[in-house]
Parts: sequence; C-alpha cells; structure tokens
Amino acid sequence: MQKVLVNIARLLLAITFIASGFVKAVDPTGTALKIAEYLAAMGAPLTMAQSVGEGLYMLAAVLLSTIEFALGVNMLFAIRRRQTAVLMLLFMVVYTPITLWAAIWNSVGDCGCFGDAFKLTNWQTFAKNIVLLAAAIIVNWRATDIGRLISRSSQWIVTNYTVVFILIVSGWSLHYLPLFDFRPYHIGASIREGLTLPENADEKQMERYVNYMDFSMTSNAKGEDITDDVLEDRGYTFLLISPQLEKADDGRLDLINMLYEYACEKGISFYGLTASRESAVTLWRDITGAEYDFCTADETLLRTMIRSNPGLMLLKDGVVAGKWSCNDLPDEKELDAILSGGEFRKPTSPLKMILWYIVPLVILTFTDRLWAWSKWIKVAQERNKIYKLLKHKNMRKKIVAGNWKMNMNLQDGIALAKELNDTLTGAKPNCTVVICTPFIHLASIASFLNQEVIGLGAENCADKEKGAYTGEVSAEMVKSTGAQYVILGHSERREYYKESYETLKEKVLLALKNGLKVIFCIGESLEEREANKQNEVVKAELEGSVFNLTAEEFKNIIIAYEPIWAIGTGKTATADQAEEIHSYIRSVIADKYGKELADETTILYGGSCKASNAPELFAKPDIDGGLIGGASLKAADFKGIIDAF
Ligand code: PEP
Repeated sequence: MQKVLVNIARLLLAITFIASGFVKAVDPTGTALKIAEYLAAMGAPLTMAQSVGEGLYMLAAVLLSTIEFALGVNMLFAIRRRQTAVLMLLFMVVYTPITLWAAIWNSVGDCGCFGDAFKLTNWQTFAKNIVLLAAAIIVNWRATDIGRLISRSSQWIVTNYTVVFILIVSGWSLHYLPLFDFRPYHIGASIREGLTLPENADEKQMERYVNYMDFSMTSNAKGEDITDDVLEDRGYTFLLISPQLEKADDGRLDLINMLYEYACEKGISFYGLTASRESAVTLWRDITGAEYDFCTADETLLRTMIRSNPGLMLLKDGVVAGKWSCNDLPDEKELDAILSGGEFRKPTSPLKMILWYIVPLVILTFTDRLWAWSKWIKVAQERNKIYKLLKHKNMRKKIVAGNWKMNMNLQDGIALAKELNDTLTGAKPNCTVVICTPFIHLASIASFLNQEVIGLGAENCADKEKGAYTGEVSAEMVKSTGAQYVILGHSERREYYKESYETLKEKVLLALKNGLKVIFCIGESLEEREANKQNEVVKAELEGSVFNLTAEEFKNIIIAYEPIWAIGTGKTATADQAEEIHSYIRSVIADKYGKELADETTILYGGSCKASNAPELFAKPDIDGGLIGGASLKAADFKGIIDAF
C-alpha cells in the first residue's frame, strides 16, 4: 500500500515536471518573459524586468526548463532517487508560497507553469502546487520505494541524454521559432475571425476574442489605424515584426530588403511592425535602407505574435499563413512556390524530434531491463543451486576427525584425550568429533571418553580376521576396545606399507562386519595432480576398494579426500580446488549408488587443515568437515578447527 502511494506520487511529480520543463524549453523567450513578469511583480528594478530576452533572463529560462525536465525524467526512471526527491521538494517549497502570493495579490496574469500550452488561474496553480508539495513529501518519506526503471550502471546515459536533448530543444526554439506554437498567432489562426464578436457570443467566442483584442496596427505614415485594411485584405500581407527595433538582429538585412523588393514586385503589402519610437524606426531605416511603411503596435502583442526579433509573418485573408524567424527567412524560390499555391516548406516535425529522444530511451530501457532480468534469473538459479547444496549439506553428518598417527606415548595420549574430553563436553560442538589414535591408547581412552561427544577410532586394522599374523590388530580387536571408527587407506599406509586396492577392500569388509565405521582415505600425489589425473585417481581408489559394497554397507563409509601433496606439508588445496574435487567424488558416488545416498555421504577434507583455513573450506557445499593430522595433537589447535562449524 505504501509502495503504491509512493509510486503514484512519483508519477504525478515526474509527469508534471517533464511537461512543465518541456513546454518551457519549447519557448525560452516566453519563459524568460514570465520570469521577468514575476520579478517585476516582486518589485525588481524596472530596467531589469524590461531587459527581457537579454542574457540573464534567457539563461534562467533555459536553466529552469532543463532542471525541471531532467528532474522529471530522473524521477520517472528513479535515477538518484533521494537527491531527486529532495530537489523536487525544494522546488515545491519555493513554488508553493510564491503561487499563494500570486493568487492573493493577483500579481501575475497566469502562473506560466505550463507556458502557453495550458493556462491555469493563480488559485488553480496554488491548489496544484499543494498536491505536488504533498507528493514531494511522500516520495521523500520513502524514496527507496520508488521502483527503478533502469539499472544504476545505465543511469548516466539517461541523464546526459536528457540534458542534451532538452538543451537542443531550447536552442532550436531560440534559433528558429518555438518547436510547438501554443499561442493565438500560430500558423492557421484566423485573426479576423478572432476579432469578430457576434452579438450573442458564447464563452468560447469571448475567450477567443480576448486573445486577439490587442491586435491593432497604426500606420506611422498615415497616422491612422490600418488593422481592418490588413485583415480584410484577401491577398497576402508581409509583417516584419520587431517588438524592440533598437534590439533587433540586423544580420539579415539583405534578405529582408530582398523580401521587401519581392513583395513590391508582386504587389503584396509589406509592413514593419514595432512598439519602438519613431527615433528607433529612423535609425533602422538609416542602417538598413528600409523603405517599407512602419506601423506601431503593442510590445506584448508583438512578442506574442512571434518569438524572434525581427520575425516575419505572412497573412492571407486575415489568417496567419506563415511565420519565420530572422534566422530562417524564406528565399524567392520558396515564396514563388507559396504564392503559386504550392506547399509551405515543412517545418521540422516536432514529433520527429520527440521520437529522437523517446525511441533510443525506450530501446535502452528494454535492453537494460532484459539484461537485468537475465542477471537476476542467473543469480536466482545460482542461489537456488547453492540453497539445495547447503540443504543437503545440512542433512549430512559434519565431522572433524583427528589422526594422531605414530605420535604420543600412552600417558601423553591419555592426557590429550582427557583435555579434549573436558573441553568439548562443556563446549557442545556443532559437529561430530572423532579422535583416531594408535592401538595402544584405545582401551585406556575408551574407559573415560564421553563417546556422546567424542568418537574414538583406530588408524588401521588387519586385512585378516584372526590367526597367525604376528604384530597385526584385527577389526574385531579394535571394536573390542570400545572404538567405533577406523581409518583405512591412508596415503602413508598405501605408500609405506604398500596397501593395495585389494588389501583395503578386505580391511573395509572386515571393519564393517565388526560394526566399525570406516574413514576411507583417497587422494592423488603431486605428480598426478600436475598431470591433471586427480579425478581418475580418486575414482580408481573408490572403485578398487569400496564400490563392491552394497548401498546399505556404503552408508557406514566416510570418505576423506586428502591430496597427498598437502599432507603434513603446510600446503593446502584452495577451498575452490577442494570443493571441485569433493563435488566430483560425490558425483562418482551418485553414479554408483544414486543421488540420494551420495547426498547423505560425508566427505572430509584432509591436508594441512588448520583453524585459520578451516572456515573457508568447511563453508563449501561439498566439504563436510576435516581429517586432521598435525593440528589434532594439541587440544587448542584441534578445538580451533572444530569451532569452524
Ligand atoms: C593426515 O595425515 O590425515 C593429515 C591430514 O595430516 P595433516 O593435517 O598434518 O596434513
């Protein structure tokens, strides 16, 4: 609900600011005039207010339209949401009291918010601003609820493109004529009809009359009003319009004189129209050699008729037939074509210009959204994958197992086991902890170890059940000490005692038969890793010694992946390297026993695992704990690794 409200406010502000900025940019002269009108009403020095069209006012007009338009577009696209919302609020905080003042004192004709396109009374403007002020407060309250239309990385394109576009619109409208002509003197407007007021005039006719009632021309030469003569003329009449002749651009004199000569040749009336005094007209004649008659008219009327000083208007039958800025006057060829009933030169289509802005923006937005969606989908898929992996990981048993190897005499071993027993009983670890000790420690440790907290295991067992195998310890004997686990296939035994796949297969079977859980070690040597044969090696080790088991039997196997090059060397496989091969091992198990059993199988990492690298390793989806050698010989080091869970 809040989001909907914020986004309604956002649209209201965006559309209003875009419309307001655009109509101002379309007619910078009109906007400058309005600013001057406000300033004059506020008591600005008259000279300042009169210097309309001059640099400062024009600059203010262009700036105002650019800022309003760009803020509107930023709000629409949710670009720099917070800053845009604050700036809009600032605008409304300034505009609202000004319009209240304008409404109370009726100090300006109309607000000018939408140029000449859409006129509001001062009270209507004030009401509109109250609504916009409320909208600005709402978007400031929750700016981050404004939904983005474009990703952050593309925002600069939209903002820059917008500013360039609106500046081009302003520049174009200044150099030529307003891109859209919303005033009463647009091409096609009938001044004669506008000035005809029937007796029972309705409201619309009255309104139209008011628009034209200032239209009046007094000939300087004749000293009389020639308005009716001009409007009743069924032929063409040229009006060279200059509100202030002393400020008129005299850069196109040749063309203007040529136009006058052309008019004389064709018998067309040609009048200069100005609000300036006779002295200015005389000066103009001196400079330009103008021979045409000048008429006096109201300055505001002339500014309304054309936004160029001077500008050319062509009337026919009291209707505005053509309008040209002094920068774009027609030549003889064009006039010939017009007078012989041909078409007027088509002005640049405003719609085309708008499309030049909108189409690239729509394409950019679509491409950007598609890109964002595909990225979002990828992230969602990735998350889903990780979620599934972690879900399975959470279902599996997490184990940290110590492998004491041939270290610790009986007393030291008992002392270490006691220390661990005391520490971990209180600490309640988040994983299963196992210590695998030499045979001679097993029975003594089993007698005091809290096996609810720490499991006990051997590091080996014989490949024979029992009998004349001097020096060997059978699986049954291990089990009889109270131990529950046995490490088999450790690389040191494979290497130094030449334990083959077959021997290990027998050991595994005997261990399982005697109810022991097997921590079965696999892993490649450095040469094998360098030859990129690690996958091949671990697969062969599994196939050689444990893949003969039934699925039920396999449930008692814990795999320990130990790259031989990392054991006791201080070198660790990176977490990503380890994850890659753990995931491969799981896939091999899945191929053999199915995905469900593979997902349940605990796979430990071994090889220089320490408290410092354990968290990163254990965080990987397929690493379920560690088989720890050197670091399991000190209670604190071992505890540090356990705490990684
Ligand atoms: C091991 O031998 O099982 C082992 C992982 O050793 P270390 O942690 O010392 O590398």
